[in-house]
Amino acid sequence: MKKRIGIVGSGTTGLQLAYALKDDFEVTIVSHRSPEQLRSGRIMSTQVHFSPTRAREERFHMPKWESDSMIESIHITVGDQKLFAGMLEKPALSVDQRLAYSRYAEELERAGVSFQQKKVIKEEIEAFSDEFDLVIDCTGKNGPLIPFPVEKELTPFQTPQRKCIVGYFKGVKPTSPLGVSVTVIPEIGEMFEIPSETEYGPVTILFITAVPEGPLDMFKGIKSPEAFTIKMREAVEMFFPDIHERIVDIDFALCDENGFLQIAITPEVRIPYLNVNDKLFLGCGDSVILNDPITGQGSNLSSYCAEQLSDLLIEHKHSVRWDEELGRLYWERIKPFVKEVTEWTNAMTQPLPGHVIQMLLSAAEDQQKADEIARWFENPSTAHQAFLTKV
Ligand SMILES: Cc1cc2nc3c(=O)[nH]c(=O)nc-3n(C[C@H](O)[C@H](O)[C@H](O)COP(=O)(O)OP(=O)(O)OC[C@H]3O[C@@H](n4cnc5c(N)ncnc54)[C@H](O)[C@@H]3O)c2cc1C
Repeated sequence: MKKRIGIVGSGTTGLQLAYALKDDFEVTIVSHRSPEQLRSGRIMSTQVHFSPTRAREERFHMPKWESDSMIESIHITVGDQKLFAGMLEKPALSVDQRLAYSRYAEELERAGVSFQQKKVIKEEIEAFSDEFDLVIDCTGKNGPLIPFPVEKELTPFQTPQRKCIVGYFKGVKPTSPLGVSVTVIPEIGEMFEIPSETEYGPVTILFITAVPEGPLDMFKGIKSPEAFTIKMREAVEMFFPDIHERIVDIDFALCDENGFLQIAITPEVRIPYLNVNDKLFLGCGDSVILNDPITGQGSNLSSYCAEQLSDLLIEHKHSVRWDEELGRLYWERIKPFVKEVTEWTNAMTQPLPGHVIQMLLSAAEDQQKADEIARWFENPSTAHQAFLTKV
């Protein structure tokens, strides 16, 4: 008889796990939103999936996306000085999670994965786990439901290091070559301009990461799409002249009234396994490894951890009982990469070290170095090495 796995949460992590596990286990996904609610709801992220994540999606036969918005490059500007456009090794892609998650969930249901629509509450999780051999908490940044212990070594901050302000816009002419444009304004914050696919066609995501209480932290109290659009135009005019020049006035608007978001995240890493009343619970994705979005690694790291976990569970599918030892093996497998991504991401929220600024400046004169820096985002181990190893 196949073991039964309950996955709480139908985001990047829960959905990839379900694709990877569905042939070897009886999988049930519990999520508090239906595909239709996801599709018609608020945007949740900017979700650039770099090539290793896209390769995993292919490995697990997840739906493919046809797109004219493939991300080929990373453009870097510091202050008002455009430094370079580095080429990624392989294209990346951002597909609105509202569109992606709802399609993945519908396909999984057709493929025999059970869905329950329900908001699981902490007090219920133990009773809920009686139905399953294992419950995996994939509840994202609102989680976890299980009190997995905090990994203090990787959790240096007690407050958010950035305010995240995101809008999905029509009416911005794209950069060439098509890519993510990163503008760093020292001590004030950053802007990430990202081409993305949505139900409303291609859009340009304008994603501000503002240092709290600084001059870019100028969206406080803004609730309506109209006020958000006006404020974004003002911010772009004041701080990002290159984007301002590419705005087409009559077309500049959010792609839909739910196409904007403000959030601030306190990064936190937890040890993703715990025995509760002699039963193993695991966590995967943002519920246990929550980083600031500044390096665009959250979905990518979640996808990596989900792959490691699904491989491990399949290797151990015939074990009589899954216990804490399995949790320990899982953490041992993912911890080195989690540490690299987390330390790089945390470093990016602080003033850039002098040797990194030197690297960026020298990449302006050297395309090979520019490409190496662009590839930090698809292979964050190289970024970790560059940031934390002084030469
Ligand atoms: C502004 C912003 C920009 C970002 N940009 C990028 C980027 O460019 N690239 C990148 O890789 N990452 C990015 N990220 C991070 C990325 O979005 C997350 O890392 C990723 O979505 C995590 O996936 P997840 O499945 O763990 O969580 P989520 O996608 O948040 O999914 C959690 C799921 O759990 C469900 N759920 C929650 N609580 C309960 C409950 N109690 N009961 C039942 N269901 C529940 C939710 O409905 C949802 O389905 C960004 C994040 C933000 C906030």
